[in-house]
Amino acid sequence: MLGFRKSPWIIHYDASSCNGCDIETLACLTPLYDVERLGVINTGNPKHADIFIVTGAVNEQSAEVVRNIYHQLPEPKVVMSVGICAASGGIFRECYNVAGGVDSVIPVDVYVPGCAARPEAIIDGVVQALQVLETKQRAMKSATDSIDQALYQRAEKRDVPEILALQKIAYQSDTELYGDEGLPPLEQTLQEIQTEFDRMIFLKTVVNGKIVGSIRGYADGATAHINRCVVHPYFQRRGIGRRLLTEIEKIFPPEIRRFETFTGHKSKRNLFIYEKLGYQVFKTEPFLPTVQRVYMQKDRT
Ligand code: SF4
Repeated sequence: MLGFRKSPWIIHYDASSCNGCDIETLACLTPLYDVERLGVINTGNPKHADIFIVTGAVNEQSAEVVRNIYHQLPEPKVVMSVGICAASGGIFRECYNVAGGVDSVIPVDVYVPGCAARPEAIIDGVVQALQVLETKQRAMKSATDSIDQALYQRAEKRDVPEILALQKIAYQSDTELYGDEGLPPLEQTLQEIQTEFDRMIFLKTVVNGKIVGSIRGYADGATAHINRCVVHPYFQRRGIGRRLLTEIEKIFPPEIRRFETFTGHKSKRNLFIYEKLGYQVFKTEPFLPTVQRVYMQKDRT
C-alpha cells in the first residue's frame, strides 16, 4: 500500500466530447504541474495501472473500450471521471449515440467536476482516489480472509468480458515463465471467447461480487474437455482452481466417462493440481516454439 500512496500508476482514456478535459488531464503531466515529481506515472498498459481516469461522455463506440480497459486493471482499482461530460454526459447528454456518463458502463469512485476540469481539481481527485484505493485494498484483504464464502456458479453471457480480463491477468505470469508474450490466452479476443461461450460450459468463482476464478469445458462423445482454469493472482493457492475443476466435472452427465485437459510443460502448479485430482499425463506435444503442451486424462469414477 505504501507503493500506491507514493506512486500510483494511472491510465487515461478519452471517451468522446470536446477533448478539453483530456487536454487538462495531460496538462497535469507538463512541467507546470508535473505530477510525476509526486510519483504519479501515466502508463499505457491497463494491467500496470491503479487508477483509471476517463474524460468525456461515453458513446456507443467507446462504451466497449471503457469496459475492456476497466476489466484489465488489476484489483484493487479506482475509476475517476473527469469533467461534467464524464459525470453525466454533459452538453452531449441528449445526443443520439451518447450512453451517458462513465458510470453508465462501469462503477465510478471519484467524480472531478468542471468544464473543463482544472488540473488542480484533477490532482485533488487523484489524492481522493488514493484514499479509495487504500479502502479497497483493506476490503480485498478481508475478502481473501473470507474466501470460504466464495460462490461457484454457471457464468452468464454478460460475465464474458470480465472472465476474459481475468484470463489476461491470470496468464501474465506465464509470459515470464515461457518468455513469450503471444500466448493464446493473452491474445484471445472478446469475439472469440463469446463464440466459445456459446458452445462451452463456463463456471465462475465469485467473491464479494467479483469474478476471481473461471473454468470452461465441453463434451465430445464420452469425453469432457476441460481447460482455461484461471484464478486471479490475488486469490491463488487457496483451493479455488481445485474446486473449479471438481465442480465442472460434476456438471457433465453420467454418459461422460473420461475427462481430458492440458497445460504448459513449465506450469508445475497446474500439473500438481491435476495430478492431485487423479489426472495422468498421456501425451506431450510441441505447441509453440516456447511451449510443449502436456495432455492429461482421468476416467470418471
Ligand atoms: S466537460 Fe467540458 S471541457 Fe470537458 S469534455 Fe465535456 S465539454 Fe469538453
